[in-house]
Amino acid sequence: MAAGEEKKCFFCKAGKKTGLNVLKDFICFECEKEIANLSSGDPRYYIYVRDIKKFWKNLQGKENMLKQPRS
Ligand SMILES: [Zn+2]
Repeated sequence: MAAGEEKKCFFCKAGKKTGLNVLKDFICFECEKEIANLSSGDPRYYIYVRDIKKFWKNLQGKENMLKQPRS
């Protein structure tokens, strides 16, 4: 990844230069902080939780493709 390159955040869809890369997806620091600070009483919490579930499902799908299914 080239320095200064903007990536599109999985959550806010904004182009950001700093954040976390998870496989080919990206979460900006703002969203990461936001998620960490959300309480379950916050209405936005459910939006994030829903998106996070989608996000991890994506990751699991990718992992499953690499693993040999045993069932
Ligand atoms: Zn973001």
